[in-house]
Amino acid sequence: MICNNVTVNEKGHLSFAGFDTVELAAKYGTPLYLMDENKIREHIREYKAAFLKYFPKGSNPEFASKSFSCKQIYRIMQQENMCIDAVSMGEIYTAKSAGFNMSHCFFHGNNKTDCDIAFAIDSGVGYFVIDNFEEIEAVNLMAKDKGIIQKALLRITPGIDTHTHQKISTGNVDSKFGFAIATGMANEAVEAVLKCENITLCGFHCHIGSQIFESDPFVTAAELMLDFIAHIKTTQNYTADILNLGGGFGVKYLESQQALNLDEKIGEVANAISQKCNELGIAVPKIAMEPGRSIVADAGMTLYTVGSVKEIKGYKNYVSIDGGMPDNPRFALYESPYTVMIASRANDKADFTATIAGRCCESGDIIQNDVLIPKPCRSEILAVLTTGAYNYSMASNYNRIPRPPVVMLSDKGDYIAVKRETIEDICSLDV
Ligand SMILES: *Cc1c(COP(=O)(O)O)cnc(C)c1O
Repeated sequence: MICNNVTVNEKGHLSFAGFDTVELAAKYGTPLYLMDENKIREHIREYKAAFLKYFPKGSNPEFASKSFSCKQIYRIMQQENMCIDAVSMGEIYTAKSAGFNMSHCFFHGNNKTDCDIAFAIDSGVGYFVIDNFEEIEAVNLMAKDKGIIQKALLRITPGIDTHTHQKISTGNVDSKFGFAIATGMANEAVEAVLKCENITLCGFHCHIGSQIFESDPFVTAAELMLDFIAHIKTTQNYTADILNLGGGFGVKYLESQQALNLDEKIGEVANAISQKCNELGIAVPKIAMEPGRSIVADAGMTLYTVGSVKEIKGYKNYVSIDGGMPDNPRFALYESPYTVMIASRANDKADFTATIAGRCCESGDIIQNDVLIPKPCRSEILAVLTTGAYNYSMASNYNRIPRPPVVMLSDKGDYIAVKRETIEDICSLDV
């Protein structure tokens, strides 16, 4: 199977994290997001172990909140002593209300408003990752106002293209994010921030893209960033303490894709960093990374109920489900691949080619095109695998469809982490 938390039980039902998915669908209704708590903790521990093994003391992975944000995930992060990223007041508020230690939070975003900045400082956010010149000034002013010295990193654009999908590739020079090294903007930013009395510059950050399976792009990014760090040390007498290499390690969405060997990849990145620092005659900085997808994606699964099977003879077969782009917009946005199964007949022959369609009034509302599944009928449960990242966190109320609940699966049993939204909830802000 695609991941070791996906199996088939003696009834021929798809089992997830040891739970019968058909039973879970009956208990909670559909559409339903499932999250495997043990898998999340396993990934966090893999990252932490690799960091401990390969990087200098004080190096830390950070969980990228945007991939999956709700109170319970921050409780898990706190229990695992994991750092986090946040990109909005909403994510900061959620983490803080879950009791997360905000000094372990890095605040991202390419357009933080004055309101965001004030809120983040008041919430005790550990680090700002500053994106632009206006923000340097705004953070300095706000920190001064509040009588604090704010720790910060500068987001740097190293200028590489990772050949992933354009909308999720962010390291190229013309990206909307960060200060480009190539144009001299990054130099100027360091100069500007070092003049700020109420900001302590702690280092540099870059993020090159997502769904990256090889270490090479990270190695290239690290080398460019280390060149930059050495250059800044010589020209501005500033030594960066932290180098944050961003997120982006890939996840297996299809059986045909390889699984990532995290320990090996991090080892390769670490080796290259040591070598490069040696060449440049600089100390290895503390390394940070910000995995999102690779922590939560394969910890998630979505269950739906099939409504109709429409065979357009000679053209296409549609299987319509009771969810769609509101709970998973990733095919509509990026044509993201997913593995689809019929939960009640997980061992049956997959010999029916179907396009899995949602129920929005829009032909782009597709979960997957032309997948092979056993031919389902109305009321059967359809499972979409590896939906833990960027599904719940990207969900919308398009067509006024309520968001599904999130049910966590753990050693102690199954429990609700986020309740099912109701149509009354959707109307609750309407005047
Ligand atoms: C999206 C993002 C991440 C996480 O990326 P994944 O592919 O989910 O690991 C980390 N850092 C930044 C700045 C991001 O924008």
